[in-house]
Amino acid sequence: METKTTVISPEEIRRQNAICGEIREYWAAQGVTPLAFVDTYGCQQNEADSERIRGMLVEAGYALTDTEEGADVIVLNTCAIREHAEQRVFGNVGALVHTKRRHPRQKIFLCGCMMGQPAVSDRIKHSYPHVDGVFSTHHLWEFPALLLRVLKTGKRVFAVEDSAGSIAEGLPVARTNKLKAWVSVMYGCNNFCSYCIVPYVRGRERSRLPEEIYRECEDLIAAGYKEITLLGQNVNSYGKDLGIGVDFADLMAHIAELDGDFRLRFMTSHPKDASFKLFDTIAKYPKICKQFHLPFQSGNDRVLKEMNRHYTREQYLRLVDYGRSLMPDLVLTSDVIVGFPGETEEEFEDTISLIERVRYDALFTFIFSPRGGTPAAKMADPFTKADKNRRFDRLCAVQNGISEEKHRAYVGKTLRVLIDGRDGELLTARTDGGRLVRLAGGDELIGRFADVRIDGCTTWSLTGRLCKGSE
Ligand code: SF4
Repeated sequence: METKTTVISPEEIRRQNAICGEIREYWAAQGVTPLAFVDTYGCQQNEADSERIRGMLVEAGYALTDTEEGADVIVLNTCAIREHAEQRVFGNVGALVHTKRRHPRQKIFLCGCMMGQPAVSDRIKHSYPHVDGVFSTHHLWEFPALLLRVLKTGKRVFAVEDSAGSIAEGLPVARTNKLKAWVSVMYGCNNFCSYCIVPYVRGRERSRLPEEIYRECEDLIAAGYKEITLLGQNVNSYGKDLGIGVDFADLMAHIAELDGDFRLRFMTSHPKDASFKLFDTIAKYPKICKQFHLPFQSGNDRVLKEMNRHYTREQYLRLVDYGRSLMPDLVLTSDVIVGFPGETEEEFEDTISLIERVRYDALFTFIFSPRGGTPAAKMADPFTKADKNRRFDRLCAVQNGISEEKHRAYVGKTLRVLIDGRDGELLTARTDGGRLVRLAGGDELIGRFADVRIDGCTTWSLTGRLCKGSE
């Protein structure tokens, strides 16, 4: 397998943008404004990729629609993280045979992580003849050429050749949110956690050049964006492949020094690459949110080894303690897997004791589900589904109690929030720590930072009143 990152040349990107022009003419010649529907499964990285796919479609003259019905092109951006997610995709793809029958000129494309698996693209090729095109994450940049070929020839296209991964700068972007933006800083992952399919479908770690990221952030701030989230499967190893002496903490510091009224978040971190320097940087810059999502997955060293996570419980806790010593109010969230193959009751109790020790504000909890193509899927497991469900319920009960106590502790405090929308009667807002706050107020407040006095809470959210002077 090719191990070197493919950097797509500016000339090739210009050629793809020119092809968008040809597609616009193709439809203009028929006096049609075509409609495009892009649906996203999975993580924030897929959301960010879908914003590029929408950007290319808008560049090609398509109007965006939020339904498959009557769409001239449908793009499903798929996720491969769990097998049952894939079954759902196959079900939805099957159902598209009807929308196409009702709108025969409709073109259907599948992309994203699922399409990075040869077995999946073969299955689509042989069992889903109504699908016109398939492309993996490494081929996203050439979507305009693939679309034009299908429009002109009616022939199906498959761009799924395996590669270490590509970097393409300068693709058009159509963001749905006008306040908050995703900015990918790197792609791929080299960690090969034994339960995870991502390294096999997203390729090797490859970082974007810092100046490309700075330029994108400057443009977003100038356009009035209030929140930027830096994205990567493992942002903490940013820059290692570039060898230019810029690591993730340097990147964050540079962006946090940019002028403008905005705040900065990032995800996702791997504890083995998280450094004290990163915590120092978060503490030093007011624009960097005091929130850290640091997945620990298990509290037991033998299980962490079986997961191929490359850190120990002690090393993880040392990071947490250091961060808390600098920022006592640092909001910590994490991911945990319950019922990893062979995890004993005692080892599970290590996970519970770690949660009680760290006291996360929120936890994303998963029951282990074997993912075909990963080492963990072949591991022996003497424990039953009932065992895992019982442990899962116990873990959620412990965490819900902690989250409730944590949220109750905010009552009476004044917090700075970004008001980002409305939910029925009330406005919604997010604290620096990412906590959801509901408050009364007019829509003119949406998009503004404000101080809010917290006067109530539930397990997962807070309520508050706008402070004088914040109106
Ligand atoms: S760090 Fe591990 S869990 Fe995260 S994407 Fe990489 S291999 Fe998957």
